[in-house]
Amino acid sequence: MPKEKKQKLRLNPNGDIITLENVSKAYASSNSPALDGIDLRIKRGEFVFIIGDSGSGKSTLIKLLLRELAPTGGKIMVMGEDVGKLRHYKIPKYRRNIGIVFQDFRLLKDRNVYENVAFAQRIIQVSNKEIKRNVPSILATVGLAGKYKARPRNLSGGEQQRVAIARALVNRPAILLADEPTGNLDPDTTWEIMKLLEQINENGTTVLMVTHNREIVDTMKKRVVTMKKGVIVSDEEKGGYVHED
Ligand code: ADP
Ligand code: MG
Repeated sequence: MPKEKKQKLRLNPNGDIITLENVSKAYASSNSPALDGIDLRIKRGEFVFIIGDSGSGKSTLIKLLLRELAPTGGKIMVMGEDVGKLRHYKIPKYRRNIGIVFQDFRLLKDRNVYENVAFAQRIIQVSNKEIKRNVPSILATVGLAGKYKARPRNLSGGEQQRVAIARALVNRPAILLADEPTGNLDPDTTWEIMKLLEQINENGTTVLMVTHNREIVDTMKKRVVTMKKGVIVSDEEKGGYVHED
């Protein structure tokens, strides 16, 4: 991990890193709410799987945490910030607390690996000198030290996801959100990415991962939050995949 001035890690008044209280999100174009009164508390350093059928509200939850969307009801606290009440000018700074990884990688196709990761530092005005130190270090962490000049199209899916993970982590966020990060990967590559995410979590980053992959959830024995039609229907420590027909 890059060495940098250590950011002060702020927690919510209740000591959690993420707290949702009775959170709802109704999209204007839809008659039923995407989230309907969610309560969720996540402690610093946890690894949490979010599972549930398509349309159950998982991505909406991720978007609320990123403050891409604001809740229509309830309260979201992340690292001491009332996220729903954040003023617009404060949102970019708030987002530095959070890294995000998607199923489809979302890399800049016309930039090489180094630039894809460096970009995340440039937009928050990290100096070139620090970027030159941090980017190789994070690329080594994700196992891509030798590929810094490659373009995304010349990388495998697993390598592209590693670049995306490096980009998500280079600014040293306290929280990593991953929305189906292994959805486009084959089983072997999936496990390599899961080992990397587990290692990142063991180094102190709180990880929330949305997935449909039953084998991962059953094998890893982490906390499992199951959603259905906008509500949380179960929340288990060291859970497995419970399928209801
Ligand atoms: P998941 O990620 O679990 O598949 P989503 O959070 O994407 O679920 O969606 C939850 C519900 O909200 C679904 O019924 C979906 O159709 C609806 N929804 C998601 N995004 C929008 C949107 N931008 N506008 C209207 N409805 C949406
Ligand atoms: Mg989704």
